[in-house]
Order: sequence, then structure tokens, then C-alpha cells
Amino acid sequence: MMARVGQLARLLREQAGVDERLPTDLDRIAKWCSVVVADIPLDGFLGYYTSVGNRHGILLKEGQPRTQRRFTLAHELGHLSLPGHDGATPCADRDVLRPRVSRERERAANEFAAELLMPAFRFRSDIRDRDPSIELLAELADEQRYDVSLTAAGIRLAKLTHEPVAVVCSEAGRLKWKDWSRNFSYALPSSGGRVPGGSVAAAVLRGEDDSRVPERIDNHAWFDGREQALEVYESAINMHRLGRVLSVIWVVERD
Ligand SMILES: [Zn+2]
Repeated sequence: MMARVGQLARLLREQAGVDERLPTDLDRIAKWCSVVVADIPLDGFLGYYTSVGNRHGILLKEGQPRTQRRFTLAHELGHLSLPGHDGATPCADRDVLRPRVSRERERAANEFAAELLMPAFRFRSDIRDRDPSIELLAELADEQRYDVSLTAAGIRLAKLTHEPVAVVCSEAGRLKWKDWSRNFSYALPSSGGRVPGGSVAAAVLRGEDDSRVPERIDNHAWFDGREQALEVYESAINMHRLGRVLSVIWVVERD
């Protein structure tokens, strides 16, 4: 199903005449879909897709930061476009802009949103030969590029990179969520577990400056990296507005 989700998002870009232009013009897509978008007070939910007859409406929780609103809107456009997603269901905070959510429909809508905002073929070429880092995420997330949150860019990086990379979000000393690339084969602490003291995330959580470029850390800081041939790097940023720290962990495997 997931491969088809990406195809449908690409088809929608084409049909709506957005093609390869970035950042993705969601207003144009919403207009092409004849969908009315309204920002209203919503409690506990970020977005809602509904239809009456052949009319479609997307309701967004008012006051979302711009990039988060963009992701939520793209997610709701996913519910509107994907087969079997009809029937209004509000989308909770925990299901939007999180990796590996358990509800299949929500996961599909997130995948659709990611492809709509960050088309894989472009994103892959943007990350090729670049060190996976917060610096790279900030460059890609920029208003003039993909115009997405650092979080969205980070989850996309974990999905599309060939490097062993993990993206970890921490809050109040604990892991909030984590995501990792298909070549990352190391066991990170569980969500809800303590952020390890030797990590850059822990230093940033203690109030030290962000570390936007990869910094060599102890092999054991995040996981049991016994192999000698490993080098582990981490970059991390304090997302003050959210009260969270985002880390990119990158393993260089020497052969
Ligand atoms: Zn949803």
C-alpha cells in the first residue's frame, strides 16, 4: 500500500499543476481539489477531513506553526485522496508528524503528506553525498526549499537515506519518539526511556548550545556500539518553541 501512497501523491502534484516546483503550493492543490480549508479551534486534534455530498472540507486547528499547519493540511489531503479514507475522522496530535504510528490510515496519510511536501526523487538527490545532520535538515526545511518543520525533514531523511541514521526527539530528559533508516541496525533506548548522559541531546537539554554539525560521540553513548570499526556522530538542536530537542545520530561503519 505504501508504494501506492507515494504514487497517488505524485499524481496529485501533477494533476494540480504543481509539478516539480518547491515549496509545494498546497493552496493550489487544495483549490484544484475544490476543498474548503478553514482554521478553527479544535481541542486535542490537529485536523479533520469531512465531505458533504461532493463537497470537501478540511478543518485545521487554528494557531499551528506554519510548517506544522502545512504538514497537517497535506496529511488531510491524503485522507481526501486515498482510497478507503472516507468518513470523517479527526486526526490526533500523536498521529500526525510522528514516525511509525500504529494506525495504518494515519501512517498512510503521513506518508502521503511527506511525498507531497518532499518528493522522494528531489529529496534523495538533495541528501546524496551530504553528512546527515541538523545543519542539513535546517537547509532543507527552509521556507525557500521544502518549507517544512525540522521534524518532518528529519523523518524524511530517516526514510530516504542509505546511511545508518536515526532521528530522536527528546523532551524533559526522555525519548519522546525515534525513527531510523533501513541501514541503522543498532538498538536505541525505548521511547519514554532516559536520554543517555553522554549524548549531545543530553548536553543540549542541559542548556548547552546546539550542535548543528556532526560531533563525534562515544560509541556507547546511545547504544551498545562494541565494534571497533564504528564511528558515531550526533548533531542536536533545541526546538525551544516545542520544548524538545531533535537529534540526528549517524553511524559511520569503516570496513
Ligand atoms: Zn489523519
